[in-house]
Amino acid sequence: MRIRLLLLLFAAALLPVAAAGASSATHRGVGFELKRTSISPRHPTFDAKREIRLHYGFAAARGTDLRIEVRRAGSGRVVRVYRERDARPGRRLARVWNGLNRRGRVAGDGRYEFRVGPVGGAMRYAGRFRLRTHVFPVDGPHGTRGAIGDFGAPRSGGRVHEGFDITADCGTPLLAARGGRVQKVGYDPVLYGYYVLIDGLKTSQDYFYSHLIAPPAVDRRDRIRTSQFVGRVGRTGNAASTPCHLHFEVRIHGDPVDPEPYLRTWDRHS
Ligand SMILES: [Zn+2]
Repeated sequence: MRIRLLLLLFAAALLPVAAAGASSATHRGVGFELKRTSISPRHPTFDAKREIRLHYGFAAARGTDLRIEVRRAGSGRVVRVYRERDARPGRRLARVWNGLNRRGRVAGDGRYEFRVGPVGGAMRYAGRFRLRTHVFPVDGPHGTRGAIGDFGAPRSGGRVHEGFDITADCGTPLLAARGGRVQKVGYDPVLYGYYVLIDGLKTSQDYFYSHLIAPPAVDRRDRIRTSQFVGRVGRTGNAASTPCHLHFEVRIHGDPVDPEPYLRTWDRHS
């Protein structure tokens, strides 16, 4: 009698193991179906307030461990991998990607795709998007002919022009080309007027905005997101006799570099 009871207990203990083995086999096979995939926002930007989000659901016999991949479109190179433990079928699920690769670096501008599948099973295509790491800083009609000043153009007193000028109506909103930390805000009556300097997140570049119409909308040490409003185009400082414009600089470890090629790229994409 006692031995029979022990055998029963033994058999009962074995059962869940067998069942789990069978179900993980189905997860690798036809038991998984990806559903209702979408990606938001439509134009994802690195470090913007709206995060890059894959929405999805799936059908399966039971809760499943999922693998989610972010891949470079084209090459298919896997940039980032996530595991979702015991994800529930039939629910609306979401996965945020912060735009960083597996080593914690910014993944770079370009096209990416999400793939989702059961751990150990086939991965399914879940949608494609283009990631941008910057936005054009002037949010409105503007000119980039460089009529006022290209990078390196001579200035009075032997100075050279250390930025690029973008003409726009006074009052046009200025957006952070890249998120980061506000390093400096101030007023320089001789050259720059109202200005703001932002230390870019996950880059050695700093971004300088000057001749603002009024003090910047942000304070020193503020954490700024990409495309966040920072102020408005003006003509303060030595711009009083010129058309309203943004004097924009990109500095790498403090040294100005020619921002024009960057600006032209961002302008095409914004
Ligand atoms: Zn300038």
